[in-house]
Amino acid sequence: MDEKFMREALKQAKKAYKLEEVPIGCVITMNEKIIARSYNKRNSKKNPLAHAEIMAINKASKIVGDWRLEECTMYVTLEPCQMCAGAIVQARIPRVVIASMNPKAGCAGSVLNLLQVERFNHQVEITNGVLEEECTALLQEFFRELRVKKK
Ligand SMILES: [Zn+2]
Repeated sequence: MDEKFMREALKQAKKAYKLEEVPIGCVITMNEKIIARSYNKRNSKKNPLAHAEIMAINKASKIVGDWRLEECTMYVTLEPCQMCAGAIVQARIPRVVIASMNPKAGCAGSVLNLLQVERFNHQVEITNGVLEEECTALLQEFFRELRVKKK
């Protein structure tokens, strides 16, 4: 099941890739159905908040009709940053599934683990490594191409 939904998040990441955005995709499920999909649009929207997770949370909240997403699971192709990890805690999402970790900027265990701070009122269950190879390969390909273009 996790792989199936991560594959959908990966499809979103590929859409970002086509727009020359860092390929990060996200889906949010409820009752084993996808209720929101999104991908990184930071450059196209010229907005530092336009991360895949934030926009997926926006869509999911509209569908659920509540700021609490307590019955949802998030699938994201790259470990969330500090902003998105904060939003995940604010939305009370109980579980996040991550493909690739991000040692330089991730806040679900790499740089920090904002999803599991005991002193906050909400902690998030983390599953990582789902479709890790494919999602990492996509990111590596993106940055390799970017370096070639810059030359
Ligand atoms: Zn983020």
